[in-house]
Amino acid sequence: MPTLDTLDVRGKTVLVRCDFNVPLEGGVVSEATRIEASLGTIRELQAKGASKLVLCSHLGRPKDKVEEAWRLKPVGEELSKRLGQHVTTLQVTVGDEAKKAIKAAQAGSIILLENVRFLPGETKGNPELGRQFSELADVFVLDAFGTAHRDHASVTGPCRHIPSAAGRLLQKEVECLGRLLQNPPKPFVTLVGGAKVSDKVEILESLIARCDALLVGGAMAYTFLKAQGKNIGRSLCEADKLDLARELLAKAKARGCVIELPVDHVAGSEFKNDCEIRRDVAEVPEGFMGLDIGAKTAAKYAETLSKAKTLLWNGPMGVFEMENFSRGTKVVGEAFAASKGYKVVGGGDSVAAAEQFGLAARMDHVSTGGGASLEFLGGADLPGVKALREGLKGAAKG
Ligand code: ADP
Ligand code: MG
Repeated sequence: MPTLDTLDVRGKTVLVRCDFNVPLEGGVVSEATRIEASLGTIRELQAKGASKLVLCSHLGRPKDKVEEAWRLKPVGEELSKRLGQHVTTLQVTVGDEAKKAIKAAQAGSIILLENVRFLPGETKGNPELGRQFSELADVFVLDAFGTAHRDHASVTGPCRHIPSAAGRLLQKEVECLGRLLQNPPKPFVTLVGGAKVSDKVEILESLIARCDALLVGGAMAYTFLKAQGKNIGRSLCEADKLDLARELLAKAKARGCVIELPVDHVAGSEFKNDCEIRRDVAEVPEGFMGLDIGAKTAAKYAETLSKAKTLLWNGPMGVFEMENFSRGTKVVGEAFAASKGYKVVGGGDSVAAAEQFGLAARMDHVSTGGGASLEFLGGADLPGVKALREGLKGAAKG
């Protein structure tokens, strides 16, 4: 995959596909991690003598048309503040008006295009729209890891028409996550949890093939426990995924991957923090639901993690958002962070948990792309990465 190390940007207009899909509140950016994360690539392009920077991104989920609530203006304002330089936000994305505005801008300007998902062809990966994006600049930089698993026009299109490279954010994700796929030092242990087995089938299958141990917590553990004939009370369970769970357990056994399931639980009478609670019970009592792993399970998982040389964490061990059910995630998360191995955390809620417990800074890599990181770790060739690799040769394919 080409990177900024080889792309010639001096004196050029550079189109950068960013991931500025940030939360807004009352028309301003309320959480700017993704904007902050993009600054490295932007500053490097400036330092390397790029003439004009044309940034683009999606925001929210507009339905192929202009929706006032999802205009990128607030992003432009936040960017201006953080860069200490005025960013001009256009109300158009591609076409003559955009071209004219870019042409008229002075060297050194930064221009932000309007929301790419206002255009009907964007999420369909329309090749003609991809070409129109490429007409706005001399070279293209893809830095939106969070959307690199989508064959969208602004992600995969420009690579086929102008010289392109990965930005530093995308590069770091591919390199750090890639270390988990290419002969990771053993033992390789994955801590997996969160809501559903069905959300994570691909990654579970892929991990079973690569890991020495899979430590399962969170709601998904109950589908596995139920598949083994355990009582799970009213815990979340995907009744239609019991066969799949059995299949995964059998595959793991055949592959020599140990799947560990919770041996005790913190159960609540209701899905809320203040309810009747049974702590550290070996089985979820009738009428209760398992909302966290118990102390014995947490200690066991922590012990396994402390000996691992490669560690991946995806999915919280319990309903960590509720104080009474946060202990398992905290204990196991701390053991994870304390391990001497190579440590990667991915997944929106897992990253939030790591941040909530003050563990994020101790990780080797915190992956920002939820769906993209899962697909990548599941072994998929991300369309954005593939398009960069194929470059201009990809044009023949449309
Ligand atoms: P990630 O975003 O890290 O991939 P998921 O989205 O799969 O994680 O799952 C996170 C959610 O799972 C959290 O909101 C958490 O409250 C919930 N969760 C974890 N354990 C349980 C449980 N035992 N019962 C119900 N919900 C749970
Ligand atoms: Mg999530």
